[in-house]
Amino acid sequence: MTYAQNLRCRECSRDYPLAALHVCDFCFGPLEVLYDDDGIKASVSRKTIASRPANLWRYREFLPCDADTAINIGAGFTPLIHAKNLGKALGLPNLYIKNDTANPTWSFKDRVVAIASSRARELGYEKLACASTGNLANSVSAHAAAAGMEAVVVIPNDLEAGKVLGSSIYSPTLVKVAGNYDAVNRLCAELAGTRNWAFVNVNVRPYYAEGSKTLGYEVAEQLGWRAPDHCVVPIASGSLFVKIRKGLNEFAKAGLIDEPHTRMSGAQATGCSPVATAWAEGSMNFRPQRPDTIAKSLAIGNPADGYYSLVQLKETNGACASVSDDEIVAGMKLLAETEGIFAETAGGVTIASVKQLAAAGRIDPDELVVAFITGAGFKTAEAVADSLGPALEIDATVESFEAAYEDREGVPA
Ligand SMILES: *Cc1c(COP(=O)(O)O)cnc(C)c1O
Ligand SMILES: [Zn+2]
Repeated sequence: MTYAQNLRCRECSRDYPLAALHVCDFCFGPLEVLYDDDGIKASVSRKTIASRPANLWRYREFLPCDADTAINIGAGFTPLIHAKNLGKALGLPNLYIKNDTANPTWSFKDRVVAIASSRARELGYEKLACASTGNLANSVSAHAAAAGMEAVVVIPNDLEAGKVLGSSIYSPTLVKVAGNYDAVNRLCAELAGTRNWAFVNVNVRPYYAEGSKTLGYEVAEQLGWRAPDHCVVPIASGSLFVKIRKGLNEFAKAGLIDEPHTRMSGAQATGCSPVATAWAEGSMNFRPQRPDTIAKSLAIGNPADGYYSLVQLKETNGACASVSDDEIVAGMKLLAETEGIFAETAGGVTIASVKQLAAAGRIDPDELVVAFITGAGFKTAEAVADSLGPALEIDATVESFEAAYEDREGVPA
């Protein structure tokens, strides 16, 4: 049972069946899932949602596949933390961290893959595939393993060891391409045209994109059924950025929260900042870039939802930051040292962007701000490894410990 009715072109509003389609035949606009909003409103309540298991299928009425037969490895319902220490450091007393490192494959991509893989199986596909900057490949490989499906995951050949291992462990067909993500994506678009495989972010992208909405639902529920004042979200393709707001709007339409007035701000690495650059120039047309940044999971130089991200920045009075590789590392360390959360480079981008936007007065200290931490730090260990303090190396004696401790700390142990 699902309330999904059809796919609809975002640009010209032509309708399509709920098949493996992603672009409009007439205008090449992206297709989105359309729902029976009245049916959803009549059937949901805060109480029924709150009574369900702590994963994203608690929002089943808002999702485009049957939750009872879905591929469920436990994605979603990750912690929302009031980040008091970090907030103090940044002058934002109402700062919250949505910690999506706590997903089954340690990134928010488990949300999109849960939906895309489930819908792909409903449509009869036996093979899952994707073009990935790393995290998506991890999640597709894991969901395919759990579902007994085959996986072909395609990545650039310069990814971090943790991202590669994080796919290999599930035994997919792992393909490393001599080229960047944009080349990988072009290749997969060609492959998808001639093979009967479900490329989760290509031919079944409308379903994939729906998974990101669940971050909006969760944050609203976890705040006590209200929308935040301001969200800061990392942007790769821009899908996550626009779908969080779609989630908040759908919750309001269903009567679960008041009409949101949430400001949506973006976070990019300077080394791959097509959206932030266009925003800074006051342009609604981004220019594609050749990525060069340690934030490899965000290294998409030609973002599919770049234009819609710019529209959203404008509509919500948001802002878009871009931060250097050094700021990214500092952001990862600041989050770890203040809140005990070890995020990957994309998380460093988010924290450094919150800092930059707060310092520039683009985030108001009174606002309830949610910063989205989308992937775990062990996946990008090499980004910080060289800048961390070494351990005390001692013999197994109290004297050796005391000498080393005092030498390091300047006071006796
Ligand atoms: C994929 C990804 C994002 C953003 O993805 P979009 O393509 O913008 O939806 C953010 N953070 C991490 C860690 C990711 O892997
Ligand atoms: Zn169209």
